[in-house]
Amino acid sequence: MTSAGFPDSLGVVRTVRGDVPAAEIGRIAFHEHLLFDLVLPEDRDSVTDAPITAQNRWQIDYRSNENRNNARQRDPEVTAGELRQFAADGGSLVVDQSTQGLARNAPGLQVAAEAADVHVVAAAGTYVVDYLDAETRALDVAALTARFVAEVETGLDGSDIRAGLIGEIGTSWPIDPAEKRALIAAARASRLTGAAISVHPGRHRDAPFAIVDILRAAGAALDRVVICHMDRTYPDGDRVRELLATGVNVEWDFFGVETSHYWFGEIELPTDLQRLKLIKALFDEGFGGRIVVSHDICTCTRMTRWGGHGYGHLMRNGPALMQRAGLSDEQITQLLRLNPLRLLTLAAPTFNQD
Ligand SMILES: [Zn+2]
Repeated sequence: MTSAGFPDSLGVVRTVRGDVPAAEIGRIAFHEHLLFDLVLPEDRDSVTDAPITAQNRWQIDYRSNENRNNARQRDPEVTAGELRQFAADGGSLVVDQSTQGLARNAPGLQVAAEAADVHVVAAAGTYVVDYLDAETRALDVAALTARFVAEVETGLDGSDIRAGLIGEIGTSWPIDPAEKRALIAAARASRLTGAAISVHPGRHRDAPFAIVDILRAAGAALDRVVICHMDRTYPDGDRVRELLATGVNVEWDFFGVETSHYWFGEIELPTDLQRLKLIKALFDEGFGGRIVVSHDICTCTRMTRWGGHGYGHLMRNGPALMQRAGLSDEQITQLLRLNPLRLLTLAAPTFNQD
């Protein structure tokens, strides 16, 4: 057993190029988007926003998802280039958490992973209800569970490429009934497949607790659940300990966003060092095994091709920043490798569907 508490010699991670022994995987970017479209489906064919140039990229980045050309990246060749840079930065595996609704493209991920020779994990599940088609919104829990299980065990969207994680499951605030059904289905599918769950909470401070209540009641193993976006949900960190006390993992996934301005609301975002100082305090309090870090890149201006920090920022610049925040080499390894690897290593299924 490693210090993170998982058996290093056992288990596999399900990538888009097949199952890979966990021991062969190095540093991980756990929550990213490699191929995605955050433009609402009904608007996707009518985007007339300005193309990104060297002259306008800073302002587009500052307002982030407002320019709709910035909120989508659908070219596997671009992804391959970004993954090559990620590997040069010392990265080994990227999880694309683009669930159904975000223009998920498992074959495109496979092409890019192959071209760059980088491990990529694809995601089962559904994003927030605004992105879902009417048929998916109407599915009951049993049908959603069967779909999520098939995405992990058989393949995604008609392909034979399998998902290695369930989520990010998208939830709004208040949680939509279709999103609640997806959370219950995620809990069941996680038990049936051994895949962990990632959840995007709505933009409200009570949202993570409502999510945990639903998942707990549905039988999820809470140590296999990650609640995303601590950066904008609890920017001052105040309710993180209360959330950790439920048994879930918590994720800071705005690394590389070094601006106080949050483009989706009246929130003052922390910097990378502020994030890491809070994480260091949580390590000191014994929570280090349940903390996940990533960039959640979902705009072009954060990719190296458009002058951004890229998927490898945490590998390239993270260790020095982590040392400045007082984290030890072991703790850095835990953040960049062991914690996400424990979550991605498929667990033994723990109950049968009845
Ligand atoms: Zn995301």
